[in-house]
Amino acid sequence: SRCFHRLLSVVIETMTTQEFNPNDATTTPMTRLQFDNRFVRELPADPDTENVRRQVLGACYTFVNPTPVAEPELVAYSMDLATDLGIRPVDCESLQFANVFAGNELLEGMQPHAMCYGGHQFGNWAGQLGDGRAINLGEVQDIHGQLQMLQLKGAGETPYSRSADGLAVLRSSVREFLCSEAMFHLGIPTTRALSLVTTGEGVIRDMFYDGRPQTEPGAIVCRVAPSFLRIGNYELFNSHGDIDNLKLLVDYTIRHHYSHLGEPSKATYLAWFKEVCERTADLVVHWMRVGFVHGVLNTDNTSILGLTIDYGPYGWIDNYDPHWTPNTTDATGKRYRFGHQPQIAQWNLLQLGNAIYPLIDDVEPLQQILTDYVKLYTDKWQKMRADKLGLNDYQGDADHELNQQLQKILLLAETDMTIFYRNLADVSCEQNDLSDEDLLAPLMEAYYAPEALSKEDKKDICNWLRRYQLRVQQDGTSDLDRKARMNRVNPKYVLRNYLSQQAIDKAHDGDYSLIHELLEVMHRPYDEQPQYQHYAAKRPDWARDKPGCSMLSCSS
Ligand code: AMP
Ligand code: MG
Repeated sequence: SRCFHRLLSVVIETMTTQEFNPNDATTTPMTRLQFDNRFVRELPADPDTENVRRQVLGACYTFVNPTPVAEPELVAYSMDLATDLGIRPVDCESLQFANVFAGNELLEGMQPHAMCYGGHQFGNWAGQLGDGRAINLGEVQDIHGQLQMLQLKGAGETPYSRSADGLAVLRSSVREFLCSEAMFHLGIPTTRALSLVTTGEGVIRDMFYDGRPQTEPGAIVCRVAPSFLRIGNYELFNSHGDIDNLKLLVDYTIRHHYSHLGEPSKATYLAWFKEVCERTADLVVHWMRVGFVHGVLNTDNTSILGLTIDYGPYGWIDNYDPHWTPNTTDATGKRYRFGHQPQIAQWNLLQLGNAIYPLIDDVEPLQQILTDYVKLYTDKWQKMRADKLGLNDYQGDADHELNQQLQKILLLAETDMTIFYRNLADVSCEQNDLSDEDLLAPLMEAYYAPEALSKEDKKDICNWLRRYQLRVQQDGTSDLDRKARMNRVNPKYVLRNYLSQQAIDKAHDGDYSLIHELLEVMHRPYDEQPQYQHYAAKRPDWARDKPGCSMLSCSS
């Protein structure tokens, strides 16, 4: 291993003088990781390895080492992801694990590099962006035989850091760590998070860009995904007119991540574009299902694999509101508001279509795929809506009406989206003779101010519920079966914004227990877990307008 850190010379010495045998349990904990760096091997590197900010042409990445930090301390790790990667819990608890995932020590076979990409930010072409604070360490084979890229976020400057410092603060790292894992266990495609370490160093951030900079604890998350390629990677080559490298990258992506589509050809490029559109539509349907708002859905934050990527000022819907955006930077235009995500995804896919156009040289089929996206998304979303209501299928106009009315019901008064859908499964559809009050009873918990519901509001809600009962009866699904079906898509637990903020507040006091507990709860988001009932509670009043709970900035 190559090691950087001065404070850890004792550890370093034992490691550098030892003979490594990956099968020998007495070797250092992390040596069983075997790297196979396909991305680096097959794609062009920036010949310049100097860590100086600059424009990089004709390369997919630049070799750059993580910057060593003062005092790595493990805060949390994902045991199931570690297991998938062949890392044992005892390895995760080792000093070496914290050192490696703080960037202080490189393992044999790692080839650290920052990726070069561009992107459209808030609708405008921003030129070269790149991994300004992310460093890929290398690819390891997981126990399913798939290569997984390990990436440190917040490990120091790269040639792509532009005017920023390459670092990340504990606050945003807790949010990324917890949300990646919560998302995965919700069954939603996402990059994962293996570890969260603090660096022992301070990082200065002006959280709301209002001239009040503060020193916050620095932290690093190790993210894991088959690939961190984004739409912006393809856009940048196109913007340089570098069609050779564009083709190299697209062919690479298809060969290794879409190999079922066959050898690259014009037809394959179109099939690939179509599948990226499909995966993106699936992803957004999931987000809409659980009330997730990405918050900065720029093309550089849109994964080519259809994964949720780059957890920044994201948020979870508490009271249902399609116009809500968690991102204060987005407060005026609300481009990235909850209800706008399907359209924004299409806009981003249009940019991908533009980027790969030179390889296809034919507008019509690309245009057709983009047009089809609307129907594709709508079909998928309607199917999901049926699932959320526990129906066998979505029946055209009749169910459209039912869902339109549901939207209105959800906006009558502040209604907690997660609790509403979860508790809707407890409204009996087998009993036709329920009083309004009994009918409504399971849903009352979802209202932020139940006493403020007027008589008419209640009447409207009951009318909708009686329509819903009829529809379910027509479907012929028993209450029991319907509940089981609904509870598989309507989670009990989501990573509510105020919960993360509480975990962050405690972490700032050196208490990581809530991070661990939330990680545990979010492991089984569809299960009741009575001992954790309080984590299913709607947003408390104090969190309504609190920074971190309802307002987030890109400063992270
Ligand atoms: P984002 O939209 O937050 O994913 O980031 C947009 C661009 O800014 C990406 O190229 C990031 O790598 C870069 N960036 C964000 N924060 C930092 C930072 N603290 N240091 C260096 N680059 C950063
Ligand atoms: Mg980003």
